[in-house]
Amino acid sequence: MKVLVTGGAGFIGSHVVEELLLKGYQVSVVDNLITGKKENLPNGVTFYKVDIRDNLNQIFEKENPDYVIHMAAQVSVSHSISKPVYDGEQNILATINVLKACVQYKVKKIIFASTAAVYGEPHYLPIDEKHEWKPISFYGLSKLNAESYIKMFSELYALNYTILRYANVYGMRQDAHGEAGVVAIFIEKIMKGDRPTIFGDGLQTRDFIFVKDVAKANVAALENGDDMVFNVSTEKKTSVVEIIDEMAKAFNKEIFPQFTEEREGDIRDSYLSNKITTSELGWEPMYTLSEGLHDTISYYKNIAVEII
Ligand code: NAD
Repeated sequence: MKVLVTGGAGFIGSHVVEELLLKGYQVSVVDNLITGKKENLPNGVTFYKVDIRDNLNQIFEKENPDYVIHMAAQVSVSHSISKPVYDGEQNILATINVLKACVQYKVKKIIFASTAAVYGEPHYLPIDEKHEWKPISFYGLSKLNAESYIKMFSELYALNYTILRYANVYGMRQDAHGEAGVVAIFIEKIMKGDRPTIFGDGLQTRDFIFVKDVAKANVAALENGDDMVFNVSTEKKTSVVEIIDEMAKAFNKEIFPQFTEEREGDIRDSYLSNKITTSELGWEPMYTLSEGLHDTISYYKNIAVEII
């Protein structure tokens, strides 16, 4: 079976590609490398350095994919606020372009990388898939719009889909710059000998899911969960202070974060139900936070040794 992954050279996409190869799929990747890196791609992948807003006919004709995993996106919340047109082009129009190609070349199914940002402020916890959608950024809104386009393409052209809404993903190859997750930022700071900064009291909670678990959810969705929407989460809330404690164990040293003022608009607590995901996809997160952080930190330590 052939799978085409958009954004496959990025942080999460490259782990999806690895998992697909491991499961014996034939993989091609379309990525313009705006944030992704060619070196993130393992051997054995056909790579196209192409923007998904461009005409994709030639690639689809040549690859004739059975499935498409659509990960390419503008992923920064703050960029979405400062450049809403660019965000809309990348996340909505580009998705429509991919959908058109999927229909034209009779792709069996599209798997879409969506986000917990579509829910906005939680009204109850854990957030399940029926929770109100009220994004508080253009990023959340553009992803929600992309979801709606996918559903309409499915209704009009019988294109199967699975939409996966990820919680906070962390792991190897996450960029510590720009809009990175707190895990990548903290690791970089600690490795430089700097003190990580915590906004507020550090007791705010999030649902941190390891990237390899996210990759497995994508592969599970190829064969399961047609025309459904799932959270991809651990269903556990972890505070920022707990992250620091786990990192101290993994680095085997004391870490002294500096506390600064809470950021305006930050959500206090958030975690996502994965009940339906586990029952429908036959998937469950395999990594505990401490295992995931251990693997992530080992990876960054190894890179540092290689650079030296
Ligand atoms: P990333 O920036 O590492 O990956 C995005 C990839 O898409 C990059 O390789 C980039 O070069 C490529 N890309 C962007 N625009 C493109 C275009 N127009 N044409 C071709 N390629 C393009 O980010 P990531 O964190 O790996 O995110 C992957 C997906 O997961 C995104 O759709 C994102 O919205 C979603 N997501 C991520 C998180 C998270 O915590 N990181 C949470 C929820 C959802």
